[in-house]
Amino acid sequence: MTDRVVVAGALYDRGRLLAARRSAPEELAGRWELPGGKLEPGERPEDALVRELREELGVEAEPLARIPGEWPLKPGYVLQVWTARLVAGEPQPLEDHDALRWLTPDETDTVDWLDQDRPAVAEAARLLRGA
Ligand code: C5P
Repeated sequence: MTDRVVVAGALYDRGRLLAARRSAPEELAGRWELPGGKLEPGERPEDALVRELREELGVEAEPLARIPGEWPLKPGYVLQVWTARLVAGEPQPLEDHDALRWLTPDETDTVDWLDQDRPAVAEAARLLRGA
């Protein structure tokens, strides 16, 4: 059986990376993540990312490149991460989150990321530093 993909965005704007604090479910609430969500059947990951960032944050984003790798979530699900550029709007915690924070590459260790997001966050910060 193929794992279902959860796509998340390392959203960049003006040299900073967006971190989003989960409000649910209880076991994840208070931890920080790269915002995103599940692919719908037949949906391309880049399209799912644009849709999820629009729904969760109210912004328009442009996917840039996939961060190499794939990280296991609960059984049957894997996490893939794309870098993305903020095109329009100011992110608001509309769905699934209760706080947002823009972090410079040197600040990425200041929030408690979900374990499964950490490798992608480290790579996103490295890319941001080189940009
Ligand atoms: O946001 P949503 O509930 O659709 O995400 C599905 C699952 O993917 C969640 O259970 C969450 O644990 C996981 N996830 C994650 N890291 C992210 C985004 C989602 O582990 N950056």
